[in-house]
Amino acid sequence: MPIADKMVKMVESASMIRKMFEEGIRMREKYGADNVFDFSLGNPDVPPPAVVKETLLELINSKTISHGYMPNPGYPHVRQAVADYLNKEYNVGITSDLIVMTAGAAGALNDILRALLNPGEDILTPAPYFVGYNQYAFVAGANLKTVASFSDFHLDLDAIEGAITENTRVMLINTPNNPTGAVYTKEELNGLGKVLDATSEKFGKRIYLISDEPYRKIVYDVDVPSVFDVYPHTIVLTSYSKELSLAGERIGYLAIHPEAEDAAMIAGAAGVTNTMMYVNAPALFQQVVGQLQGVSVDIDIYKRRRDMFCEGLHGTGYEFYVPQGAFYLFPKSPIENDVEFVTILSKQNILAVPGAAFGGPGHFRLSYAVPDKTITGSFEGFKKAFDSVK
Ligand code: PLP
Repeated sequence: MPIADKMVKMVESASMIRKMFEEGIRMREKYGADNVFDFSLGNPDVPPPAVVKETLLELINSKTISHGYMPNPGYPHVRQAVADYLNKEYNVGITSDLIVMTAGAAGALNDILRALLNPGEDILTPAPYFVGYNQYAFVAGANLKTVASFSDFHLDLDAIEGAITENTRVMLINTPNNPTGAVYTKEELNGLGKVLDATSEKFGKRIYLISDEPYRKIVYDVDVPSVFDVYPHTIVLTSYSKELSLAGERIGYLAIHPEAEDAAMIAGAAGVTNTMMYVNAPALFQQVVGQLQGVSVDIDIYKRRRDMFCEGLHGTGYEFYVPQGAFYLFPKSPIENDVEFVTILSKQNILAVPGAAFGGPGHFRLSYAVPDKTITGSFEGFKKAFDSVK
């Protein structure tokens, strides 16, 4: 093998996703873009708010713009702006030295997992879960262990308590959730904090909570409770990929609770793991987002699409929970084999992702980060696919 043995499986699973992307291109060429209903990618299509471009232009024309190296965790003034925002929103008393600017949420996950985990230690995450976690665990040399959620995709605290072992170093959650759209409640997060306290004590080692929150601002009629309030040994990470539709610009951050055990040491380590991969977060967009704390895309667009999609699918027989956040629906597959059902959908020119890819077999994921007409145009095909297996 010309490539490392350990890479073979990783390349195979990455090429599955690439194949799907290529299938979308092939279908659009064959049937015309208007006749293909591609719900496979979570790539925001809502334009960034106008203020993003204004800030960018102002910055480019200013004399203060900086292009050089900086302290690896990011520009001090940007980290301060993030800390100020977090203190205003969550009253957590965080200081800028506990913020590391990163290349998106993926960069933040890579940084913090490599900072916290010894090779062979476990990350525990509720399933279904975001596929990228397999890759980030791989890079950290850690094991990704999963624990089933309730059928409504909320946290099964008893199961979590039972799944934590002396090898567990990190509990990783994602709220609002990709692929399910679930937003964890204050009560379940409080319960999780208690479980992590009890199990840290039981095993005589600190278990850290990492909350992956790139969809925090994309919520409908609910608030996302602050994880900082429920457990001090917490690292929250996020990006501007979804909330400002800047996915390609690779900008985000991680923030460590000031009362987390060894907070300063963890921040220092995350700043160093940062340098090992991409040195620092992109300079230009650090300077842009530093000025745009609290700004987000027009969430009403996603809400309208969610409502449209749910209404349209209700009439066709599919079962699903109405998502409270993010921009995904995760319906039950009408047949047990979700991979087979996704193939049946593709015969109707509908592209979806099998739930098995997210550790949620028996379901499939639909991203509604797509134009309205892609949603409305797909209902007939969804009905035909459902009727063909019933
Ligand atoms: N975490 C979750 C749950 C995601 O859905 C994604 C991207 O889709 C990421 C992390 C990575 O986000 P980013 O593009 O900001 O690196």
